[in-house]
Amino acid sequence: MNTKECIEMAESSILHTYNRYQLSIDKGDGVYLYDSDGNKYLDFQAGIAVYAFGYGNKKINDALKEQIDKIIHTSNLYYNEPAATAAKRLIKLAGMDRIFFTNSGTEAIEGAVKTARRYAYDKDGCTDHEIIAMKHSFHGRSMGALSVTGNEKYQEPFKPLIGGVKFAEFNNLDSVKSLVNDKTCAIILEPVQGEGGIYPATEEFMKGIRKICDENDILLIFDEIQCGMGRTGKMFAHEHYGVKPDIMTLAKALGCGVPVGAFLTTEKAAALKPGDHGTTYGGNPFAAAAVNAVLDLFEQTNVLENVIEVSEYFEKELDKITEDFECVSGHRGKGLMQGLILNKPANDVVLKAIDNGLLVITAGAQILRMLPPLIITKENVDEMIKILRKALQ
Ligand SMILES: *Cc1c(COP(=O)(O)O)cnc(C)c1O
Repeated sequence: MNTKECIEMAESSILHTYNRYQLSIDKGDGVYLYDSDGNKYLDFQAGIAVYAFGYGNKKINDALKEQIDKIIHTSNLYYNEPAATAAKRLIKLAGMDRIFFTNSGTEAIEGAVKTARRYAYDKDGCTDHEIIAMKHSFHGRSMGALSVTGNEKYQEPFKPLIGGVKFAEFNNLDSVKSLVNDKTCAIILEPVQGEGGIYPATEEFMKGIRKICDENDILLIFDEIQCGMGRTGKMFAHEHYGVKPDIMTLAKALGCGVPVGAFLTTEKAAALKPGDHGTTYGGNPFAAAAVNAVLDLFEQTNVLENVIEVSEYFEKELDKITEDFECVSGHRGKGLMQGLILNKPANDVVLKAIDNGLLVITAGAQILRMLPPLIITKENVDEMIKILRKALQ
């Protein structure tokens, strides 16, 4: 099936909730993707921060094949070794105590929100606890996750959402403080906002939020679904700030293409009890095998060093682009999570880039978002910059 045929068939049957780029991806190899017509693209979106180790990684693929031949699914009524192992490894890595595996990011957020509500309920027996979330945040599309997503456009048609959610200004401590009261059970934020426009939190904000939470026995939830798993050059973005959460959510690169998410809690915040929460698929042996393979690669390769080294170079190149192009007013981000700030529609540049064999995406109307596989080289950056310059012209 060529690209045109694929698009026609998809558009006649799949619900039109996305305005997709006119590309049908057929296969991947390393940091490159190929469409159904055989065209090659340098991929600086990685399936939206998913494919940390690029396409066709042999170690991941072999581990998945081996698990398929053993068993894919068991249900959570029984134990399975891949999940037990992945759980142990992840809580150790994150310095947390408990984990629950989900199938997606939005479900991880659901679990985090339920945990916070349960924690507060256990304390005072009341049911009207509030959550403070951030403007321009993104936490997912299910009703609970949408309720804490600071985007009026996404929320409006689906109201009423879950109650008791208030929105503060990101990186503005006073704004958060003004919303805290004795009903507040959680503050949720992304250490680096992704969809909202690649905004890294300031250190002052992160430390201040932690203090507010400590003083008021409020649970701090970090959504590391996009910025976690090595994306910023640390395993988890909050490590840049020396501030720890009570609950953390992961997904995207956690399974490097296999749908898996998780929420992790400290022992104190591990409020969910038998019967409070569940999932048919979450943490099944196949998904857990993916997590273990991904964790193996983080252990066995120097990928975090690569992120730090290549992103330094990348940022210097983005500095030059900022100087050279009037339509670029700057860039921001951390590690290999970068946003180029444009003063024109970012999607126009994305389309030009695609025409020239480069995949990048947007984050809001005027931010060009770049989330390459973590294994990219400086040569890949050079190749990318060359195409980006063309696309900007
Ligand atoms: C992508 C994303 C989500 C939602 O994850 P899904 O797997 O798409 O449900 C939540 N939070 C952040 C920060 C994300 O980037």
